[in-house]
Amino acid sequence: MCGLVVAVGYTALPYGWVSLTVSTAVSAGSCVVMMAGTRRNRPASAGNWYLFVSGVATWILGDIVYAVQILVGGAAAFPSWADALYLGAYPMLTVALFRLTRERRTDRGFLSGNLIDSAIIGVGVGIVYWTFMIEPVVTDSSIPVLTRLVTAGYPTVGVLLCAVITPILLRRGPRSPSLWLLTAGSAITLAGNISYTLLPHAVDPVYLYAGYLVAYTCWAAAAAHPSMARPVTGDRDGLGRSRLLVLTGSTLLVPAVLLVQGEHGGGRVSWAAVAVGSMALFVLVATRMSGYVSRVDIQARQLRELAMRDDLTGLPNRRDFEQRATLAVQTAPCHMIMIDLAGFKHVNDRLGRAVGDQALIAVAELLRQSIRDGDVVARMGADEFAVLVHDTLPGDGEAVAGRLAEVLRHPVHAGEHELLLNARMGVASSAPSALPATSSGPRLSSISSSALPSSSTSSIADRAGTGSVSGASSGVSGVSLDGAAELIRRADTARYAAKTSGGQLVEYTPELDERTEAAERLGADLRHSLDDGDFQVVYQPIIDLRDDRPVAVEALVRWTHPVRGPVSPAAFIPVAEDNGLIVELGEWIMRTACRRLADWRTTLGAEAPLYISVNVSPRQLSEPGFPAVVLAILAETGLEPAALLVEVTETAIFGGGTAIEAVETLHRAGIRIALDDFGTGHSSLGLLRTVPVDVLKIDKSFVDEITEPGRRAVVVDALIHVCAGLDLRAVAEGVETAEQAEYLRELGYHYAQGYHFGRPVPDPITPVADTLPV
Ligand code: C2E
Ligand code: CA
Ligand code: CA
Repeated sequence: MCGLVVAVGYTALPYGWVSLTVSTAVSAGSCVVMMAGTRRNRPASAGNWYLFVSGVATWILGDIVYAVQILVGGAAAFPSWADALYLGAYPMLTVALFRLTRERRTDRGFLSGNLIDSAIIGVGVGIVYWTFMIEPVVTDSSIPVLTRLVTAGYPTVGVLLCAVITPILLRRGPRSPSLWLLTAGSAITLAGNISYTLLPHAVDPVYLYAGYLVAYTCWAAAAAHPSMARPVTGDRDGLGRSRLLVLTGSTLLVPAVLLVQGEHGGGRVSWAAVAVGSMALFVLVATRMSGYVSRVDIQARQLRELAMRDDLTGLPNRRDFEQRATLAVQTAPCHMIMIDLAGFKHVNDRLGRAVGDQALIAVAELLRQSIRDGDVVARMGADEFAVLVHDTLPGDGEAVAGRLAEVLRHPVHAGEHELLLNARMGVASSAPSALPATSSGPRLSSISSSALPSSSTSSIADRAGTGSVSGASSGVSGVSLDGAAELIRRADTARYAAKTSGGQLVEYTPELDERTEAAERLGADLRHSLDDGDFQVVYQPIIDLRDDRPVAVEALVRWTHPVRGPVSPAAFIPVAEDNGLIVELGEWIMRTACRRLADWRTTLGAEAPLYISVNVSPRQLSEPGFPAVVLAILAETGLEPAALLVEVTETAIFGGGTAIEAVETLHRAGIRIALDDFGTGHSSLGLLRTVPVDVLKIDKSFVDEITEPGRRAVVVDALIHVCAGLDLRAVAEGVETAEQAEYLRELGYHYAQGYHFGRPVPDPITPVADTLPV
């Protein structure tokens, strides 16, 4: 700003010692400021700044020499020392400017785009200057050689300046304040040089000098600004529109010269210069373009790879997998295996994402090692993987699936942890012959479809006309395989069946689709029934074997489907569990049961059951607010915590995480905990020591053994000792005969429930005498 004012003032001064002093002060001051700025800001490119200052200083010296010559001798000699200084200054300035404005490049070794651009501009402009200004002077033998050389020197350095500064003006990307000032100073210098070279008499030298003074101060400010220490960043010599325009323009200068000379040159054509120039330009442009094209190529390839790869595991992602599967299905028979890690959520919850990530990487590595070359393993989603197996030989798919199942049965290592991830796998084959074969003889592991009602029965959704699930029947059994998507869907259906049945590996059969469909319909119907109040809670007495009197009741839910009639909880609880409705339904059951016990207490007094046993599903347990809901229900019904017993399954708490925390919270509050169906799940006696348990419910299958011919009551006998040793109460379930009851009594069992004592009914306690007329 200061420099600008001085420069404007300078133009008003008459040319003389005063103006010389002023201009020298400004220019020398600028040099000092540049030196000081470079010292203070410590840029990595300090050497270039010093070179730049040297260039400016040399130039200023030239100015002074020139001015002194005029003021002392009345006119400047030509050529003089001033010219030597000027011409010496330009190379320093241009080299320093080029290096100061060059971007930091990582991929060295390649000719930088900026350098080539400068060269293209230089050659283009150079041809023009050469043909019209330099060549005529240099070849004019009437002028002394030195004068010729010096005269030609100015347009030559002009070309240099133009070549270096034009790319700076056109560069894209952000400019720091320092770079802006550098650019501005350079632009002024370029303009000055062009006007001096092309039209020496058009501009009053005073304005020219004033312009240079402004340029000096711009440069001084550029060096003083702290941002000068930052490396220059940009879009790495990308080809902007204006830059492309200038480069094209520069290349067109050569034919333009030919044209002008041909028209007006009287037959004199600088064919040598034009030819050499065009060749040089051609090579430069080709180099520039090939560098650019190969970079675009590399970037395109990187982008493609990124889009097809899973970041965490490095496996192909879903998109890539689907493309490969599409190709594979068209060419040869293959097997699709879908895998999901049921235990993964717990790992993430309990041990954190970092361990979860390690586990996924470990699984990815295991899978990669377990497949053959040519087969594909991919990560499809958070904890989902897929494997495509080419059936080179019959049975390949089954073999790989079996091997993967075996590998995934073992714990994986993640950091210092050993994690059991509970992989569920579904397999589907693309071979058409596989369909009828499997549908006639299901090869499912641990799936019984009898629990679900037939899909041909109409549903509430149909009846209500919502159509949400009706008409979804696809009649899959007769449909031919339409590509990879269908194969993936089938494997996914099988995987889902593995998940709901608790199995590890399930092979797809068309009837799985019917099951899935029936489950979906049932889920929709559950929603309607929950709103319409089609549910009821029934109670089965729990008996004290020592006096055969009921001490408690277990609450069991009943659903009367408006169309189908009664539906077994064994059929709809898993569905409600899966679609989340169990949370709402379970809360309703809990509230209903607790209210019921409170009612019995007021009507029956001492005859009321001591406590009520309520089944709680895994999904409810892992719901974060579950313990609070239970405590609120106890508070609103006025029951003390000991009046409630919560039945959970071993499987629900085996996974750990929120479920175990919920059980612990409930137990701390005074609510008792029972392990239901004990002996059928994971049956880890270790669980009994780590989880607070008060009651073991011995599964009906062990009670059945008592009276089965040829079998002895080994398990019930052993379990009563376990309970005694761990100070747990044992309740034998499913007692159907007096003989079983007697045997259990002899073994030392105190509590039992079963049809022998009473079925689950709406009102098991009210004494018969009360309801009958006397
Ligand atoms: P569970 O908790 O083991 O319940 C005992 C099941 O055995 C009940 O079947 C009951 O009616 C039946 N049962 C009782 N005594 C005998 C007997 O002597 N012989 C035979 N054959 N069966 C007997 P239900 O009511 O059909 O319930 C089946 C399962 O559904 C339950 O097994 C439980 O896991 C689940 N469930 C039932 N009600 C609820 C509920 O309110 N909430 C939750 N989360 N699950 C429930
Ligand atoms: Ca139960
Ligand atoms: Ca049970």
